Amino acid sequence: MGLTVNNKEFESMQEFSKQGRGCATNRPSNYQIKRNDERVSRFRRRDLAASTATIPIMFIHITDGQNGEITEDQRLMQVEVLNQVFSQYGITFSYSPDDVIWEENINWYYMDIDSIDERLAKRELQSDPRFYLNLYTAGLTPGLLGWATYPWTRNGDMESDGVVILNEAFPEGSEENFNFGMTAVHEVGHWLGLYHTFEGGCDPYGDQVGDTPSHSGPNEGKPPEGRNNACNPKESAPIHNYMNYVDDEWMDEITDDQVTRIWEHIRIYRPEFID
Ligand SMILES: [Zn+2]
Repeated sequence: MGLTVNNKEFESMQEFSKQGRGCATNRPSNYQIKRNDERVSRFRRRDLAASTATIPIMFIHITDGQNGEITEDQRLMQVEVLNQVFSQYGITFSYSPDDVIWEENINWYYMDIDSIDERLAKRELQSDPRFYLNLYTAGLTPGLLGWATYPWTRNGDMESDGVVILNEAFPEGSEENFNFGMTAVHEVGHWLGLYHTFEGGCDPYGDQVGDTPSHSGPNEGKPPEGRNNACNPKESAPIHNYMNYVDDEWMDEITDDQVTRIWEHIRIYRPEFID
C-alpha cells in the first residue's frame, strides 16, 4: 500500500519508517485490534480509581566494540524526559545505576525488528519483564530509530517484551532532530498500549483513542500549525503528539484519552508495576 507524505511517495509504511521517524513498531492487525481493544473496552466500564505505578528501567546497551556507548548522564536525562511526560499521570520511571547491562556483539548491534538477532539478544539479556522495562540500545538496521512490543504480546511471548532505541537517538546523541529523548517516549507509548495517532488513516477511531483527531498519515519534521492532514476539515492534525512522527523538538502532547488507554493497559497487562 503506497503512502504520500509531504509530496514524497513511499512504497509502504515500512519504507517511510526507514526514512522518516524510523519507528518500526509493527502495525496492529485487525485481529489484534479486535482481540485486544474489545477486551480493553469491556474493562473501561470498570472502576478506574486513581493509582500510581513505578516502572524500573533496565538499560541494556549493545555495542560493536567501538560504537554504542551511552553515558550515565544520558541515562539520567532519558529517565528525566520520561518522567517529565508520564509522572504527572502517576506513572514514574525509576533507575538505579546498577541496572545497566553491557554486551558487545556486532550482529546484535545491527539488529532489525523481528530478526533472529533481536530474538537471541533479548533471550540472553532481558530481565524479568514483569518487573522491568527492558530498554535496549544498539546501532540497528540503518534508518531505524527504534521499536517496541505492545503490552498484549507479553502473553505468549514474554521474551520479546521491551523497547529498542537507536543509541544515537538518546538525549545528546548524534541523531539530528531526534536527540531530545522523545524516541524513548514514543516507543514507551507503544509499550504501554498506544498506537500511532495516524493508525488507520481516516478511520475516526483508528488509534482507538477518542480525543486525537484522525489524520491521513504521519506528519514529519516541524510542520506549521493548522489543519495539515487532518481528515475532518474542522480539526487539526495532532502535530505535537508523542505518537506522531514529527521531530523531537515538536513533541509535547499526550491526550487524556491516551493516558486512560495507557492505564487500562497497565491494569490488564502490566499490573506488577502498580504501587
Ligand atoms: Zn511508533
